[in-house]
Amino acid sequence: MSKNTTITITTHVNKIRQDIHDICRKYHININGLKLLAVSKTHPASAIQAAFEQGITEFGESYLQEALDKIHALKQLPIEWHFIGPIQSNKTQQIAANFNWVQSVDREKLLLRLNQQRPTELPPINICVQINYFNEPQKKGTNKEDIPKLLELANQLPNINLRGMMAIPPKAGEFEAQLSQFQQIAAFFKQCQKNFPQMDTLSMGMSGDLEAAIAAGSSMVRIGTALFGARK
Ligand SMILES: *Cc1c(COP(=O)(O)O)cnc(C)c1O
Repeated sequence: MSKNTTITITTHVNKIRQDIHDICRKYHININGLKLLAVSKTHPASAIQAAFEQGITEFGESYLQEALDKIHALKQLPIEWHFIGPIQSNKTQQIAANFNWVQSVDREKLLLRLNQQRPTELPPINICVQINYFNEPQKKGTNKEDIPKLLELANQLPNINLRGMMAIPPKAGEFEAQLSQFQQIAAFFKQCQKNFPQMDTLSMGMSGDLEAAIAAGSSMVRIGTALFGARK
């Protein structure tokens, strides 16, 4: 990694932190309730290391093989790894063994396999179920009608630590429309929290829509492009 790239990542980390700070102020939100997940898919281990040196400790990856290579290369660093990509069920074993979190769980089979395959020497794996709130046909995630059953199962499995929900709503042109989508998801999440009060994570908001997501009550924004630059 060149010195310039390291400087760029440092600048981006500071900029995102400042943006998050400003947004929280604007909407009177407690910044301590908000986590920053750095989405490092397609970017090299050296970029992750540069962000880690700026105090970022949680990284999100979407492609298993690429992620495993980076996890291995960086195993001396105390990083929390989040799997956030689509999951084929034959990949759950390696996910269960190598990640701290999985945010893209969208069906019972994945929960059962992750529970069974989580190595006994590790703590229960942190899970967010992925919701497809607006029933977009081309998108992953569970429709909201099917979410309660999924949460119920996650709640029962001993090697699963149910943490919350992850959402990727459709792109909306206007800020108000974006905000409204995130608010609907946040309201649904709150309703589900009544039955599963251990859920402390509503993962929503990316580089292009973090203001609306935070304003609506996100507790974790997943930022890739704004930290590491465009993906190829
Ligand atoms: C790639 C990705 C992100 C990051 O998106 P950016 O627009 O680059 O910030 C966030 N969440 C998920 C699930 C992703 O796949």
